[in-house]
Amino acid sequence: MRFKIALIGFGAANMLALAYIASSKPDLLPQTVIIDPTLNGGALQNQWPFVRSNTTWQQFVNAISKFSATAQYASIISGEYPAEEPTHLHVLARHLRKAVEPFMRQATLYKDSVIKVQEDNAIFNITMKNANVIQAEKVIFSPGSIPKVFNYPIPIIPLAAALDHRQVGSYVGPGDRVVLFGTAHSGCLVLKNLVDAGADVSVVYATEKPFLFARDGVYDGVKQDAADIADSVLDGRLSARLIHYSKQEEVVSALLRATFACYTIGFELDSKVKELVGEYDPKTARIGSSEMYGFGIAFPSYTEIDGKKNWDVSIPSFTEHILKTNILSKVSSE
Ligand SMILES: Cc1cc2nc3c(=O)[nH]c(=O)nc-3n(C[C@H](O)[C@H](O)[C@H](O)COP(=O)(O)OP(=O)(O)OC[C@H]3O[C@@H](n4cnc5c(N)ncnc54)[C@H](O)[C@@H]3O)c2cc1C
Repeated sequence: MRFKIALIGFGAANMLALAYIASSKPDLLPQTVIIDPTLNGGALQNQWPFVRSNTTWQQFVNAISKFSATAQYASIISGEYPAEEPTHLHVLARHLRKAVEPFMRQATLYKDSVIKVQEDNAIFNITMKNANVIQAEKVIFSPGSIPKVFNYPIPIIPLAAALDHRQVGSYVGPGDRVVLFGTAHSGCLVLKNLVDAGADVSVVYATEKPFLFARDGVYDGVKQDAADIADSVLDGRLSARLIHYSKQEEVVSALLRATFACYTIGFELDSKVKELVGEYDPKTARIGSSEMYGFGIAFPSYTEIDGKKNWDVSIPSFTEHILKTNILSKVSSE
């Protein structure tokens, strides 16, 4: 089986990549293969469905309007939620899935995981876990990322559970002590869930101040729900102990008394995925020197401010990245 394009991973990023293919080279859809272990919407659906988005409904609708193939769907759903309000993340996953469903039907689907990608004479040989093997001329690899953790020998609350207020209470209750690392968007949401479950929380931050706010002009600063939570910690409505990471004695003392640790300190490529890929260039989205490209949380674009790279991880920024790199511009539709 030889395809023109293989989409490996089918979360938000590659659903947007499929909208891009359907918009710029629709003739390639029957020669496109999509490989993903669930094919149902990636982490937004499977890991954090009941987390409230940090983007507004309007930002989501604007993003999918940018592809001609999904623009009509965007206009149909635009009034479904208040424009300036966030929604639950499963809503975004469901609508992305529905927006690209007609194009999925034209492609070949494998509910499987890629375990090996080998390039030979400008053709990628792609091997999957269930022994399926296919070939493709171009690969768009958007496999997502996994939460980073520190290796302290303390039981952890997995991030997906910590972000779900219904699950937190199955880990902790009154009397439990938790050390939470990180005070960005996810950190704030987790902090509230832990306090609501009755836990005594120590929060370790590594930034100049405990919370950095978007309203103060900080790129990627907390906003919306997360900003409300940060405010309520700072004015004492929500009780938590704040410890700067440099105060190692205080960090160690909190850890020694803790029943659980929870980490909201960013994301990284899974080690198995790392083995599959070469060096990534965010400007071209190219991975290695060949026709393999990457998007999404695993391979994002960035905005440089005062020499610091801020990685752009959201549906609107994935859309911009895909459109800007325009990787199909030189592909014929034969
Ligand atoms: C807690 C949290 C909240 C967020 N909130 C928002 C928000 O409100 N708004 C917003 O715009 N963005 C948000 N984001 C950012 C971003 O939109 C999501 O992270 C999104 O899920 C990233 O999409 P992705 O396609 O890169 O990765 P994923 O959604 O993780 O999808 C990757 C897919 O690839 C599959 N895969 C992995 N390895 C393989 C393999 N070897 N073979 C085949 N398939 C493979 C995975 O199973 C998965 O289905 C949030 C991120 C996080 C972590």
